[in-house]
Amino acid sequence: MRKCYGIIWHHSLTDDNTLKSDTFAIDRYHTSWRYEGEIIPESHAKTLIAQGVEGVQTPWKMNGYNALIEEKDNKVVIYLRRDFHKMTGAHTVGYNSTHLGNCIIGNFDKAPPKDELLKVAAKLGAAQMRYYETSNNYMHRKFATYKSCPGEKFPWNKFLTMLATEYLIKRPKLSEVLEEYAAVPQYPEK
Ligand SMILES: [Zn+2]
Repeated sequence: MRKCYGIIWHHSLTDDNTLKSDTFAIDRYHTSWRYEGEIIPESHAKTLIAQGVEGVQTPWKMNGYNALIEEKDNKVVIYLRRDFHKMTGAHTVGYNSTHLGNCIIGNFDKAPPKDELLKVAAKLGAAQMRYYETSNNYMHRKFATYKSCPGEKFPWNKFLTMLATEYLIKRPKLSEVLEEYAAVPQYPEK
């Protein structure tokens, strides 16, 4: 089993559409050809690559995060994506095979996350700390100093206190947290 050295926290930098799944939009984005933050058709991508343009991103197999937390239909839900033990993540350069990457949906450069969103994120984080036997939590920007991720207004110290409280006192099991908060369905219904 691969050892987990910690959890890296991200924001999506996009506003949370509380009526629909933003995770599905990130699924679509990560599995498409991309250039300068936009989805582009494969033919356009290949033309750019043929012209020697740099920064064209090839589609990934799946959403790059291990888990995403978002508000949908007045409830905070968790989506699980890459399985840490089966697949390398795609969230933090240099740390994708050693650290979990969790994404909280929202743009926390603009405003801090709602309490309920933070609360569920802390429950998930504490349960992952137990399950993966790690006590380390990091903001993405520690490893990518050119970014603000998880946001200028993200209350990091408060969040660390919430994580510690959950971890030490409530001791949630990952299976219990997922039973309560895992989104249904996890993928769009066909
Ligand atoms: Zn990030």
